[in-house]
Amino acid sequence: MALRFYNTLSQQVEEFRLQEGNLVRMYTCGPTVYNFAHIGNFRTFVFYDLLRRWLAARGYKLDHVMNITDVEDRIIRNSIEQHKAIKEYTEVYEKAFFEDCEVLRLTQPERWVRATEHISEMAAAIAKLGEKGYTYTSEGSVYFRIASFPDYGKLSHNDFSGIRAGARVDVDTYEKADARDFVLWKSPKDGEPFWDTPIGPGRPGWHIECSVMAIEYLGETLDIHAGGVDLIFPHHENEIAQSVSLTGKPFARYWLHSEFLLVDGQKMSKSLGNFYTLRDVLGRGYPPETVRYLLASVPYRKQLNFTFEGLQSAKTAVERLRNFAWRLDQEKFRPGANEKIAERTAEAERQFGQSLDDDLNTAGALGATFEYLRDANVAMDSGDFREQNVPAARAFLGCFDSIFDVLRPSAQKQSLSDAEVEARILARAEAKKARKFGEADRIRDELTAQGIILEDTKDGVRWKRK
Ligand SMILES: [Zn+2]
Repeated sequence: MALRFYNTLSQQVEEFRLQEGNLVRMYTCGPTVYNFAHIGNFRTFVFYDLLRRWLAARGYKLDHVMNITDVEDRIIRNSIEQHKAIKEYTEVYEKAFFEDCEVLRLTQPERWVRATEHISEMAAAIAKLGEKGYTYTSEGSVYFRIASFPDYGKLSHNDFSGIRAGARVDVDTYEKADARDFVLWKSPKDGEPFWDTPIGPGRPGWHIECSVMAIEYLGETLDIHAGGVDLIFPHHENEIAQSVSLTGKPFARYWLHSEFLLVDGQKMSKSLGNFYTLRDVLGRGYPPETVRYLLASVPYRKQLNFTFEGLQSAKTAVERLRNFAWRLDQEKFRPGANEKIAERTAEAERQFGQSLDDDLNTAGALGATFEYLRDANVAMDSGDFREQNVPAARAFLGCFDSIFDVLRPSAQKQSLSDAEVEARILARAEAKKARKFGEADRIRDELTAQGIILEDTKDGVRWKRK
């Protein structure tokens, strides 16, 4: 069976076929750098990484573009509050994001593109949409008239035919019930930063940035467009409306969406106290490979329930894999080859590939791997596993690790950097302000465990290393 994916657009599992050649032109929605990325974000980014790795393993070449949203509502609000320029505010989180990606071993897309570096292209696209009659202006802001796009709702499978024409929405994210003409270009409010462009002063809405940068680098029709399920509406629906209206061509052939991450069975939220950045989790002493394993272990279209018990099981699983690798490297096996073991190894590799071909069924691939490990360990114990069975077993493990990438232990970090300590102290202050004293104490205890001593003074928190 060939490689296949569930396409949100058709709501079917479809065989993956390119129109020509073997270059996959792929666009994935990247981070909004207004804060540290949380583990739900990283579930999606790990999915992109697995997708990249498996496409490459199946012989495809990739031209993968991922955007960095470095201007939007929250960034504008927070940077004004902190009296910082947009760039000054976002670069901290952008840097942190790249560090996090490296820690989680995420392979890099071929191109990273920043919204703020494509403002004139966005203004030009909005002008073109205007010439074609898809937009109107109100108080300096430009809106997309969704009544002018009959296919609106085709991706999210919503019927928007009854919506009131002319009602507008200015914010970047909103619910289905609020489907209205959405903003392409926002005129600046008092004190807000803006760009001067031929369509007037202002800044782009969130949705137009992805359409413009995707078309700019990958052409009018992409092979794959991916993101989290929360982006299906309105973000991706709006991307389609803008792009198709601009080019007259289909925007993307395969739409892939990863499901939510829950924490202890609940939606992750700051108010529930179950909100974790990647740095929070690593700060508790879990190795990054363990987090990577857990995020990769559930197929991307299933909800992933994150728990610390789950992380503990992931740790055990990674240890089992490493132990097997160690046995292959270190044990002395009897000479010769065992035909049954050779067949068993080939079967495991086949099952592994078939699972990932099946819409990236990572759970199936891990199942095949661990069943093989069990059988091979038994054969090693009984002496049936022979010297000449080693290379194929090693090759299979290599194939496994070229996708899951958890065998190599991360270098143990000596200690938290100053910036990391400051970030934790800030989180503790926020917890206190929200009267979540348990959370605040937990952060202090974690810092103490890392040799960081906090001192609450009347001038704020002072800290030192033990
Ligand atoms: Zn996007």
